[in-house]
Formats: sequence, structure tokens, C-alpha cells
Amino acid sequence: MNSILDQDIMFLPGVGPKRKEILSKELGINTYRDLLEYYPYKYVDRSRIYKIDELSNDMPFVQLKGKILSFDEFEMGPRSKRIVAHFSDGHGVVDLVWFHGTKWVYENYKLNTEYIIFGKPTVYAGRYQFSHPEIEDASKLTLSEMGMQPYYITTEKMKKMGLTSRSIEKLTKTLVEKLSSTTLQETLPDFILRRLHLVSIDQAFHGVHYPKNANEMRHARLRLKFEELFYVQLNILRYASDQRHRYRGYIFEHVGDTFNTFYKNNLPFELTNAQKRVMHEIRADMNSGKQMNRLLQGDVGSGKTLVALMSMLIAIDNGFQACMMAPTEILAEQHLQTIKKFLHEMDVRVELLTGIVKGKKRKEILEGLADGRVQILIGTHAIIEEQVVFHRLGLAVIDEQHRFGVAQRAKLWTKSSNPPHILVMTATPIPRTLAMTIYGDLDVSIIDELPPGRKPIDTRHCYDNQVTSLYQSIRNQINAGRQVYIVFPLIKESEKSDLKNLEEGYETLKEVFPNMRLSKVHGKMKPAEKEEEMQKFVKGETQILVATTVIEVGVNVPNASVMVILDAQRFGLSQLHQLRGRVGRGADQSYCILVTNHKLNDETRKRINIMCETNDGFRIAEADLKLRGPGALDGTQQSGIAFDLKIADIARDGQIIQLARDEAKKIIDDDPKCIKDTYSILWNRLKELRKSNIDWAAIS
Ligand code: ADP
Ligand code: MG
Repeated sequence: MNSILDQDIMFLPGVGPKRKEILSKELGINTYRDLLEYYPYKYVDRSRIYKIDELSNDMPFVQLKGKILSFDEFEMGPRSKRIVAHFSDGHGVVDLVWFHGTKWVYENYKLNTEYIIFGKPTVYAGRYQFSHPEIEDASKLTLSEMGMQPYYITTEKMKKMGLTSRSIEKLTKTLVEKLSSTTLQETLPDFILRRLHLVSIDQAFHGVHYPKNANEMRHARLRLKFEELFYVQLNILRYASDQRHRYRGYIFEHVGDTFNTFYKNNLPFELTNAQKRVMHEIRADMNSGKQMNRLLQGDVGSGKTLVALMSMLIAIDNGFQACMMAPTEILAEQHLQTIKKFLHEMDVRVELLTGIVKGKKRKEILEGLADGRVQILIGTHAIIEEQVVFHRLGLAVIDEQHRFGVAQRAKLWTKSSNPPHILVMTATPIPRTLAMTIYGDLDVSIIDELPPGRKPIDTRHCYDNQVTSLYQSIRNQINAGRQVYIVFPLIKESEKSDLKNLEEGYETLKEVFPNMRLSKVHGKMKPAEKEEEMQKFVKGETQILVATTVIEVGVNVPNASVMVILDAQRFGLSQLHQLRGRVGRGADQSYCILVTNHKLNDETRKRINIMCETNDGFRIAEADLKLRGPGALDGTQQSGIAFDLKIADIARDGQIIQLARDEAKKIIDDDPKCIKDTYSILWNRLKELRKSNIDWAAIS
């Protein structure tokens, strides 16, 4: 479809060859559409001028009109000065503050001149202050500029060439005005616009770049956010519906001897209510005739492995094989031990396949898989290699999925004539809104309850000049029979030299704890060596495990009761939470100590505080999403899902996501083959989007 929006940006007044090049290079803006879809990241309400006596310190950016009464200077150090301008509008006085650029301030701002200032008011020493405010000569501001002023992100390079937020604002305004005489092709059907009271595409582009007031801006943004999220959902659901029509799911209709024997004789404890509920959900899926695609979320230690095992036993009862894929050899080995222990004396053949299983043993396992005698296969990604052929794979469990790429997961599908049921387990709790956006049609089960008797982990913050008393507490714990993890963020060579690295740290710790035995593991060790060191700790031969984040996932040593994380400011929230999950697995009170230096910025301080406040992984994940934004979330980055949203915000637009999903679902249910004329706008637009965007559908 050719439209005016495909015009080269060069044709826009104000854009010459030089600007065209830099817009393209720095922001990927090549056409009118690209510019229109380059949305402001914030607005300043310039439609209103506040009076000083109306200010409160929870206000966002506000604008005042008044004069500078006098200047003051304060020495802050040998070579730094703070300069303060006392500014009044006749209703009070505020301070404008600069921490550098004294000369520039004097040159540019005069007494007795009417200025409009913008900034965020904060309170300092009992008075409102604006640090580094934007200031403009009141007489030079035109009335048309006194609406909502949009702000656009620009790069350093652009600023150097004079392409500021202001210049982009002028360009978008030129474009919006140019387009006001044409009607753009609508990209959402009328019935949706009317039902949800959304503004038209013309109004939306106009209102997002050139809003007269806050209300117009909000309507425009709502429409654009909805549209963006709606097409993401529509694409995912359409793909899922396709898959459903192409394949039928295996039906596991009965629960038989294997499961029942296990449940009656081997299960050493009651299932938690959450485990029971999740088992119901999984059983219903596996008996529905559709292929199961379920994400099982549960905090570390919530008992996901057991749920996986019971699901696998149901597969066996129905004449199928099952496999379970873990991200590392240590974890695969641990799963094998756990599962063998659970199944003791039962006649189920379980095997382990990892990169180190070679030769005769490997051949034997491959044969057993091909003829169906191996019923459960535990392993690493070695499982998805081509030579591995199953007789009848009915269920694949993927543990800690964020370590597996999408492509690796897809390979599991080819292990069976019909795709097996898929159960993805993750201890990185993905907030619901995010799960919905990434996975769309992946159903979500949540274990939101820990097995009884667990004591919440006591988490504390400790500065690095207080470690002496920390080491004493560690000695006390070890003398009481406990074990301790000490985690270093990085090892030598991999980053800057100012870091305490693992090797040096290990030597120091040996001196600090002369009577204790220490193990050491890090990512650069050979697997066998790593395994040996781990085993020493698992068996209790060593009391302290000094490690990098290789222990992050899944290691289970119930006797370990202290997790010390050094340079904790270097870790993300979800990583801290994962690490903490290594303790608190036994009956004893456990501790997690976050050691940092004194130089903490706001965000780091928030992370540390959240960790000290709560053990709830979901709260932590939500906080993480808010602090860092979705692109940075561990799981999403590693699974290669790029977040390409231009205007919607997964952390904040949960309700719009839900709305978009509901609408998309109605349409797919009504027209699963995507052929009805009523929806032709949608199917066409989807095709266009798919040409230009990542394939969201490839994800589940
Ligand atoms: P996850 O994989 O979710 O981190 P695990 O499956 O490793 O958690 O379970 C952690 C520990 O809790 C294991 O030792 C497991 O045997 C135990 N466990 C699991 N379910 C229960 C339960 N219902 N009651 C008591 N202990 C349980
Ligand atoms: Mg686990």
C-alpha cells in the first residue's frame, strides 16, 4: 500500500541532505511515517503557568513566570561553586540552582527581566528550588507554543549538529500540519474505534505531537498504545490458532499405575494447595486434545520439580516418553538425583544425557530412547541434538527457560511426529503483563505458595567497611554446623581491574577463615572440575562455597544458611533474588547479606531496599520491570526477544495490554482462519507490520 506516509523524509521542509542522513543514522527515521512514529517521551504542560504559592513537591515539571531578584554564590569545595538565583512571581520566592556554569548563568540571565522557567520543584532547606531549570525570555514565547510541549530523545551526535528536541518538535509540527489536509488510511476498524472510544489515526498523530492540552495528548497516546499492543496480541494469537489447527495435541486420558504408585507410596509430603491446583491445570491441558503450552512460574524452592515429575509420570501412564531439559550439567545432574530419589524402587527407567555422556553409555541411551525403553530423559541441550530420536515423546519440560533460546525450544517440536506437550518452568517470575506480551498464548500457571515450614530469609544490607563483624557471624554459623555461600560478581580478566576478583578474594577468604574448608567455582572452570568442587560443598566436605553467579540457578544444599553477595550493587534485582533463593531451603533461619560500598545511586539503593523488604519474587519482578524497563529483564534478553515497542510501556500499561488481548481474542475466535471481510483492515495491516517488524509469533 502506497501512502503519503511512505514519502522520503527529505521532502519535508526543514530537512536537507545532512539532516536526512543524521536522522536516518541516529534514529532510523527515513520516511514521514518514521517521523510520525517517533513519539515524545514526555510533555511539559505549558498551557498553564503556576503561582509559587500553588507549588507542592509532588508536582512534575511546572512553569512559573517571574523575575530574578538577586544572585548568591556558595563554595562547595576547592574548585566548585553553587550559584543560586532568587526568583519571584509576586506570590513567593523560589531558588533556581546551578552546580556549574557560573559564568554562563551571569551572561544569560539578567535581573528585572520577565522569564518563564520550567523545572521540577523540590524542597531544599525549607524552600522550593529548581535545579538547572530551563529558562526562556517571556516576551519571546509565542502563544502557539503555550500548549503541551513535547520532548523527544536525541543523541549526543544530534545535539552537536544542533538537532535538539526542539528541532524535532518543529519538524513533527510541520509534518502534522502538512498532513492535516489529507485523511490518513485508518489502521483500526471502525467498530473497535467506536466501542473503545478511541480517536482516529489522524487525531492520534496530531494529538501525540501537537496536543493543545493534556486531555488531547492522553487520548492520542491511548489510541496509539492500544494499537501497538493490539497488533502484537493479534499476531501471537493468530499464530497460535494456526498451530492449533495444524496439529492436534496428544491426549493423556488416564492417570495410571505409575502416577498412583508414586502418589501413594513415594510422595514424602502433602502437596501444597498451589501444587495441587497447578497439577489440575496441567492434567486438564494434557487431556484437552490441544497441545499444551504452559509456563509454570514459581519462586525458587516452591516445588516445581515435583510438579514436573508428576506430569511426566502421567505421560508414562499413557504410553509416552518425557524429557526434561536443564540449562547446565550441574542442574541436569541434580534433577536426575532428585528424580531418582523420588522414584526409588519404582520401575521407571530414567537416564541422563549431557555433553559428557559419551561412548558406550551414550549409545545405550540413544537405543533406549529410540525403542521406548528409556521413559524419562533428563539432560542439557544435548537432548535436542539431531541424533537423539525418541520413540514417542509426549511431554517436554524445560527448566529455567530463560537460558534457552527460542530456536532451541522449537527444535523439541521436531522430536515427535506431533508436537509434544510443553511445560516451561521458570523461577524468574515474569509479571503477568510481560508474560502476556511475550508469550501471548502461552498459558500461565503460578505456584504462589512455598512448602510449609520455610522461614522467610532475613536479608540485610552491609557496607564493605563492616565486613569484620560479618565474618564473625559467618564463623558462628559455620560453628553451628551451617554452610555459607560467598558470591563475587566477576572474575579476573573479564572486567575492570578495580574489582575485587574471585581469585584474590578466595585467597583473602582463606586467610580470614583459616580453620574452614573452602570450595571455589566460576564460569571459566572445566565442567568436570566445577562439578567436583560443587560436589564437595553439596556433600558438606567444605563449609564455604566461593563462587561467581554460576550457582545462580537451581543448586540445592539445604544445609547452607547464609548467602553473602559481595559488590551487590553490581547485580540486577532478579539475579539477587535468584542468588538468595539458594538459601532458606532447610529448617534453619537463613540469611542473605548484601555487601556494597558507600557510593550507591538512587536506583541501587532502591534495589537493595526492595531485597531487604520482601522475599516475594513477583513483587521483586514488578519492581525490576519498573526500575529497568522490560528490555533489560533477564529472561527476555536472553531469549532474544527484542522489545520494539514505540509507545506502549509494559510496566505501566497493564490495563491496555489486557484490553488489547481481549479484543484480539474476540476477533481470532470469530475468524480463526483470518479470512472475513469485516476484518480485512486487520489482516492487511498485520501483513504490513510483519514485513517490517520482528516476528512476535515465533516466540511461543
Ligand atoms: P523449585 O524447583 O521450584 O525451585 P524444588 O522443586 O527444587 O523447587 O523444591 C524445593 C524443595 O522443596 C525440594 O527439596 C522439594 O523436595 C521440596 N518440596 C517440594 N514440594 C514440597 C511440599 N509440598 N512439601 C514439602 N516440601 C516440598
Ligand atoms: Mg528448580
